[in-house]
Amino acid sequence: MEALDDHIPASTRAHAAREAISTARSAVQSGAGRYSFEEIVTLAESHAAALGRTLLKPVINATGVLIHTNLGRAPLGKAQLDAVVTVASGYSNLEYDLTEGQRGSRYSHATTLLKTLTGAESALVVNNNAGAVMLVLGALCGGREVVISRGELVEIGGEFRIPDVISASGARLVEVGTTNRTRVADYRNAVSDQTAAFVKVHPANFRIQGFTASVEAKDLARLARSLDLPLIYDLGSGLLAAPGAPDWVRGEPPVITALTDGADLVTFSCDKLLGGPQAGVIAGRSDLIVKISRHPLLRALRVDKLALAALEATLIVYLEGDASALPLWNMALTSPIELEDRARRIIASVTKRLGRVDLKMESVASKSVFGGGSLPGTELSSRAISIGDAGRSTAEIERSLRHGEPAVVARIENDMVLLDLRTVAREQDAALEAALSAILAG
Ligand SMILES: *Cc1c(COP(=O)(O)O)cnc(C)c1O
Repeated sequence: MEALDDHIPASTRAHAAREAISTARSAVQSGAGRYSFEEIVTLAESHAAALGRTLLKPVINATGVLIHTNLGRAPLGKAQLDAVVTVASGYSNLEYDLTEGQRGSRYSHATTLLKTLTGAESALVVNNNAGAVMLVLGALCGGREVVISRGELVEIGGEFRIPDVISASGARLVEVGTTNRTRVADYRNAVSDQTAAFVKVHPANFRIQGFTASVEAKDLARLARSLDLPLIYDLGSGLLAAPGAPDWVRGEPPVITALTDGADLVTFSCDKLLGGPQAGVIAGRSDLIVKISRHPLLRALRVDKLALAALEATLIVYLEGDASALPLWNMALTSPIELEDRARRIIASVTKRLGRVDLKMESVASKSVFGGGSLPGTELSSRAISIGDAGRSTAEIERSLRHGEPAVVARIENDMVLLDLRTVAREQDAALEAALSAILAG
């Protein structure tokens, strides 16, 4: 039988029961057989559980992928959530200027904080980074050409491809260089009277190794300046500051560096390395941002007040200088020793509770990754619980975890189910223990 989520609404359960009864009735009518009362109940429960899984609900991320796009990317912490609740449970000054007592702008809110943190002249927050890129290109390059390296014509994921975004924005793509090598001269030779901008895209989710050359933002900015063209740099992840500056963040260009290197505009996500809510930031020259703000697409991409509230709270955490207070960085910086300790405790407790000698649970070394188009190739040393059960296949264990309550999303490696503890919040250990005990009970 399926674990039935207590949070499935009564109406959904009733709907599931009616479906089960109707299935049973059709079976009788078509002569396919009779269902016992218990069979109808089981069917109804399985319908209800399936319906419950389509509702948005929390899951335990035991994949070890920190910024897991399918699981909602960066989790938010208390300060961020408090801000959402405070702003959203009543009215707010979202588009109202309290100083002047007149209509204000929702785009004024996170701006000052962003300017302080990045050194940008101006900033604009929209719904997400894909929207930010689209808006910038549409507003500044529509009907004209943008020059970009062939090594940066990337697919970010979810079929979001830079060449498609450029063409959808109304700009014309001019590719320069090759997949592995692009030089400053390639950009220079591609410039015509139709050129609107140089675009640089951080290869956020892959690495090219070997015989490679790409043009640094600094050098491309110098060329752009000499030709009076803007340099637009899509950073992807939006690294503001790495708490403790671990050396694995070195491959990621920080927002502030991209701007001091001379990018006229940068775009980045707020729910990747920034560790905030879904949103996208455009930061840089204010004359360009004024122009972008007048584009009609801005209305379609506008950021909502819940995200703005969480973003402001996130930025305040950075201003206070302790980004490790954000759940994402907290999880990223947890030591493998602490993770191992937690793994051992969970194993001991589940084993004791179940008293099954045939159950094989071990604390094993694991590798966590950032995911979500951040820090490709970076692996963090982690610890996982591996589960082997003589009576069940790996796929069966993985499925029961996913169907459990709470749902646990695991990873399968070398035909073993692995629960990487780096992405499981400490506060979720008890829930994970309970879910494991229920599933492995026999
Ligand atoms: C992730 C990413 C995007 C898209 O950002 P969203 O916030 O997911 O819309 C765009 N460009 C780059 C380089 C990225 O890594």
